[in-house]
Amino acid sequence: MINPELFARIARRVESFRNAMIDMQVKLCALPAIAPSSGGEGEGKKAEFLFTHLSQNGFHDVQMIKAPDLDAPDGFRPNILARYKGKSQARTIWVMTHMDIVPPGEVSLWRGNPYKAWIEKGRVHGRGVEDNQQDMVASLFAVKAFQAEGLLPACDIGIALVADEETGSRKGIDYVLKQTDAFRKNDLIIVPDAGNETGTLIEVAEKSLLWLKIKTMGRQAHGSTPEKGINSFKAASFLITELEKLYTIFNAGDPLFDPPISTFEPTKKEANVPNINTIPGEDIFYMDNRILPCYRVPEVQKKMREIADAIEKSHGVKITFEEEQNAPAAPPTPAEAAVVLALKHAILDVYGKEARPAGIGGGTVAALFRRNGFEAACWSKLDETAHQPNEYCIIDNMVGDAKVYAHVFLQE
Ligand SMILES: [Zn+2]
Repeated sequence: MINPELFARIARRVESFRNAMIDMQVKLCALPAIAPSSGGEGEGKKAEFLFTHLSQNGFHDVQMIKAPDLDAPDGFRPNILARYKGKSQARTIWVMTHMDIVPPGEVSLWRGNPYKAWIEKGRVHGRGVEDNQQDMVASLFAVKAFQAEGLLPACDIGIALVADEETGSRKGIDYVLKQTDAFRKNDLIIVPDAGNETGTLIEVAEKSLLWLKIKTMGRQAHGSTPEKGINSFKAASFLITELEKLYTIFNAGDPLFDPPISTFEPTKKEANVPNINTIPGEDIFYMDNRILPCYRVPEVQKKMREIADAIEKSHGVKITFEEEQNAPAAPPTPAEAAVVLALKHAILDVYGKEARPAGIGGGTVAALFRRNGFEAACWSKLDETAHQPNEYCIIDNMVGDAKVYAHVFLQE
């Protein structure tokens, strides 16, 4: 499946790019791509820089897909697709990363300028260096290694650099999927925007996410005469204990996930009356439900309604459910999908570790591919410092991940 001598050559070449990779991180950091809705100018300048890099480094069909956005200075949000020719055109191996970053947050918490990347103990610090530049740079230099060695990858490589990931992807990959047929069903799609510290987590599935605002209405009364009112807080408390039954009703397990079950948790609680001697007439609490993909969200909602109906009857209250967020899980990428097997092989050879496909509790951008019928896997070796002050990328991870991509590109 892979020629070890060729891979050794490619890996050495990737290693020789270490300083060039750091240099690109510094340049990318100086072009902060913050969404207009978060107070920034969008990805324009960063996209221009990357477009030039791709055009000058052996890629062909470099195209910019412009998603209209009147709030961006250029009037659009740039998305870039580029290809690098391999031996076979039967399929393309894609690596998709996002150009946009989140704002630095509280600047006083930073030890340096978030846009002037600095090196400290084998790490590059700066906003965006891990999320998502680490693997953007890694994928670009994995390709560059093939160019420098005069070697052809086994099949075509596709690089997708998208906008708007941090604020919903509507002007990013969502728009790209609607505008092009560049992606094919047998392509391998790697999205390095999730992972763990050891590089052993290949994310292939997600739970459905259902956030609810639950309002219980009774009748307010004086604390000394509860019989004249209906205690909404008490009724809501009974409701919460009854909703615990969801754990036994929807009790299927799936070892792909950690925890391997669906979860139904009351979380936020709004304040009711400000004083102790009033029977509260209205109660509001929230639930965070994470539902395994083997269940449909509406069947869970139906059961919750039944439970609430019973409480309405027994306590004389009115209970309403309001959806704060309802994100049904995308169909999972099979644990045996080609993209998963290719990554496992590469991770074993590069990092000496057995990686495992797994599900996570909330949506990632790979779900957009999955919902459109593509098999996509999220993978990266990272410390998850994304969105934090002093965000960093471990340089060894950036170089190592580049070798993983190069390995995947070499696999016949
Ligand atoms: Zn990200």
